[in-house]
Amino acid sequence: MDHTELNNTPVAVKPVDRNYEFVVHTFGCKVNTYDTGLIQKNLTQNGFKNTDNRKSSPVHVLNTCAVTAEATQQAVRLIRKIKSKEPLATVVVTGCAAQVDTGSFENLSGADLVVANSHKGMLPQIIDQYFKKEIKQKVFKSNIFKKEDLESGGGEELSHTRSFLKIQDGCNSFCTFCIIPYARGKSRSIPIAQLVAKINELEKSGIKEVVLTGVHIGDYEDTVMGQNKTLEDLVETVLAKTNIQRFRLSSLEPIELTPRLLNLYKNDRLCAHFHMSIQSANTEVLAQMKRKYTEAEVRNSLNAINAQVTNAYVGMDVIAGFPTETDEQFEDTYKTLSETPWTRLHVFPYSERQGTRAAVLNQIPMMKRKERAQRLRELSLHRLQSEATKQVGSTKKALVLNKLAANNQAVSRDYWNIKLNLTEEKHSQLKNTEVVVKIVSVEVDELDVVLVAEIV
Ligand code: SF4
Repeated sequence: MDHTELNNTPVAVKPVDRNYEFVVHTFGCKVNTYDTGLIQKNLTQNGFKNTDNRKSSPVHVLNTCAVTAEATQQAVRLIRKIKSKEPLATVVVTGCAAQVDTGSFENLSGADLVVANSHKGMLPQIIDQYFKKEIKQKVFKSNIFKKEDLESGGGEELSHTRSFLKIQDGCNSFCTFCIIPYARGKSRSIPIAQLVAKINELEKSGIKEVVLTGVHIGDYEDTVMGQNKTLEDLVETVLAKTNIQRFRLSSLEPIELTPRLLNLYKNDRLCAHFHMSIQSANTEVLAQMKRKYTEAEVRNSLNAINAQVTNAYVGMDVIAGFPTETDEQFEDTYKTLSETPWTRLHVFPYSERQGTRAAVLNQIPMMKRKERAQRLRELSLHRLQSEATKQVGSTKKALVLNKLAANNQAVSRDYWNIKLNLTEEKHSQLKNTEVVVKIVSVEVDELDVVLVAEIV
């Protein structure tokens, strides 16, 4: 159904009504984390109360991810778990899996409402009308490619120190392995002026770090006085017209890292941290994926970062065992990665996603995908440890996190997790402030490393 059939007036509920208490469970990427902030804000402004209690709440909203079939199944499992413990709770499924895997929830008795991305902004009205028995249908969904608007203005998850700000949603690329354009629609961007105003607002509220995030931020565009503006224009304006202490960009593709953008990293408020979405470093595999760059461009972008940005942290997404990837092509990727400068890999064995073009290509046996992924992970851990060791003796600016975890107490501008061994008292004095630290040692466990530091 189209959302115009719904009653779109603000929800008038008594704040004390326990039925209107909710918690949001977030799956997937940083964009979804941001969207959770919007959902929380939208519900709260409409009289709902955020319990922030994942174990027990009258309403559980699942903000789902659809990047793999397994991501959808994780949501299905959580719904079963919630309903086995709280049979009377209302479970509302929203997000990407609600858009592209609607059937998995429509026929699941534990899911009470399925509100696809096309209708996500209508959650308060839909839940309210469901409680009042004014609507009978369970599924709210329409063609996502017709969605022109982009909810802006929300933003931060309260438990996080850093604020994820969505600058863009959707994607125009249609890579053959990716379902996301079908879940989020075509690229739409939030105007530069609105983003600058929002960042200034966040800064005034005490936020020290903003992560500019989106589904494909390389697609960012705005028109100002008839002129097309791009991601570089946005970053330049944030540097010039805000006082935010530090900000960083989420994922970029090699050809999106232009000389103009790289040059902006001379200002250390733009954090020396790159998340490169390369997926492969073999030209033929990249063409099969419908990526728009080659092995040479992967090498050039990594070498350019290394040459121009001091001590940059470079994380990269890589898919192992994409359909049709031969042993030689994989070795080619492995060799390129062995020879280029970066810090860590995020390795994903290829996983068939129904509804994508890659899912109907000749598949590589899962065992082989896992073996290739394992080799890349070993390469990554080895590199990460050696890059971490190089940090010993250096000083860094690190933001002390609001929530203390054993191995993650502060995050440096160049994205290292920092362990400070703070007492509770010291932590309560320092949380959400940036301190200068000296790295004294490196702690390594099976999967990760952390830099141990002292405040100077
Ligand atoms: S760029 Fe490709 S992988 Fe990234 S969201 Fe768009 S289609 Fe998916």
